Amino acid sequence: MTNGAASAETPVQVEHCDLCIVGAGITGINALFVASRYMSPSQKVILLDRRDRSGGMWVDTYDYVRLHQPHGLFTAGNIRWTLGRDRSYLATKDEVLAHFDHCLEVAKQRVRVDPYFGWALESHHETGGIVRLHCTSSDGRLMVVEAKRLIKAGGFGVVPNDPLQISSSRVVSVSPDCCDMRGDRMRSSDTPVWIVGGGKTAMDTAHALITEYPGREVNLVAGSGTFFSSRDRLFPAGGRRWWSGRLTSGIFTELGRRFDGTNETEVATWLRTAYGTWLTPTTGNFLLGILSESENETIAAGLNDVIMDHVVDAVDRNGDTDLVFRSGSTKTIQPGSWIVNCTGYILRHDLPYEPYVSDSGAVVSVQPRSATHHLTSYMGYFLTHLLFLDKLGEIPLYELDAAALKKKSNAALPYTLGSLTMHNLSLIADSVPNKVLLDCGLDLDHWYPLPRRMIGTTRFLLTHRRERAHLRQTLDTVRERFDIRCGPLPRGATVGS
Ligand SMILES: Cc1cc2nc3c(=O)[nH]c(=O)nc-3n(C[C@H](O)[C@H](O)[C@H](O)COP(=O)(O)OP(=O)(O)OC[C@H]3O[C@@H](n4cnc5c(N)ncnc54)[C@H](O)[C@@H]3O)c2cc1C
Repeated sequence: MTNGAASAETPVQVEHCDLCIVGAGITGINALFVASRYMSPSQKVILLDRRDRSGGMWVDTYDYVRLHQPHGLFTAGNIRWTLGRDRSYLATKDEVLAHFDHCLEVAKQRVRVDPYFGWALESHHETGGIVRLHCTSSDGRLMVVEAKRLIKAGGFGVVPNDPLQISSSRVVSVSPDCCDMRGDRMRSSDTPVWIVGGGKTAMDTAHALITEYPGREVNLVAGSGTFFSSRDRLFPAGGRRWWSGRLTSGIFTELGRRFDGTNETEVATWLRTAYGTWLTPTTGNFLLGILSESENETIAAGLNDVIMDHVVDAVDRNGDTDLVFRSGSTKTIQPGSWIVNCTGYILRHDLPYEPYVSDSGAVVSVQPRSATHHLTSYMGYFLTHLLFLDKLGEIPLYELDAAALKKKSNAALPYTLGSLTMHNLSLIADSVPNKVLLDCGLDLDHWYPLPRRMIGTTRFLLTHRRERAHLRQTLDTVRERFDIRCGPLPRGATVGS
């Protein structure tokens, strides 16, 4: 470390490294895992995050959150969990955070990692083959990091939700992130609860309330409703792993074949019928969430009222307290009712556009404005491989402005992400050693025994080139139809082209 000086009074710490990763969530930890496979023990990685530990959004998301998928499938690279639970177990928040600690320790065995938690990247620029990052700490210190390469792993920028702003003084407005449904505050009350939202957080919240307080009035205002992938069908338990269920890669392949960029309603109906579970009368949204049939049944049986509308406010008038909905209708509710903000976290805040790789190839950016896969975790894993293999400039990966598409068509978003993932995986498969595909522990196919997986992988390797033209056509159609960024980086903007 050396000391520079921004002014006579402000000492600026200066650090040098071979790679700086900004973001220590599952994306950044996957980037670290991959980088550690290419770097030598004497090289140095700086891992920087404004949160005060690794884990990303898992650090401050609501306490009763659990993984959607069986725990072994949420990891960095091929790092195994040390939990010792049944393979179908859904890890709790604390267990997920403990696994982050473990992954960090594993990476540290291969490369030097200097964590800077409580530090935020404010800006960066490239000069003379070096990336200079300007960073500030939560207690006001300044630091410049000079890195040969930078991976920005900010993901979807998930932050805890505040309670909804409500006019009524006779309701209690909370969010799951500031009020644990199983905590003393909720337990000491017996008034009705109105959950606002229809996604996974709403389901977790309903499930927590219904199972903790049998008989309590729990209601759901579910917007246009949603469906979930059925966990039982995606991940059949016990011996059924050998003969039932379908590999996720097979489902994605079929989804890619069916979606043509215009027929999202038809594809949603197929997916919902074949693999879905749901409890709302309409299912206008699908956000890749996973729910078990038993959770679905418990929630459906325990809910008092399900309203398909959007809450705008709750107001006190003429001695009553009314929920006011976007449609203009109202619903009188009991004074003292709880209103729980479960309106979601993903793609809610505007993030600036950045290409997934800078012109020089030294900066990789993983965020939804230039998505290359359906989940940021996959992007962290595959883009880092391509970075270290010097392939990022060669391969015409499609990037999708997922935030723009969400604004224009929530309905088309998940299927476009599916086509994008399969298109880019096809290009990547042709450019990396097979081991890169096999070591991706995020791959939900890993649920199945090796022989079934090998059949799936072989089928993918034999057919993916044939599928690519249709996938590209679908993505081009989405671009034209919605007038959004969806295509390869412009020639000249990519590395080495
Ligand atoms: C409630 C909820 C439940 C979910 N459950 C699952 C699940 O079960 N399974 C699943 O696969 N996915 C789940 N997801 C999706 C989830 O967001 C991702 O899987 C994943 O955890 C996101 O990881 P990430 O690393 O991309 O982003 P994050 O976890 O958000 O991590 C990004 C990190 O970057 C840091 N950062 C960003 N910008 C800067 C900066 N300028 N300076 C310093 N640090 C910065 C942030 O502080 C943050 O810690 C869930 C999402 C939500 C909202």
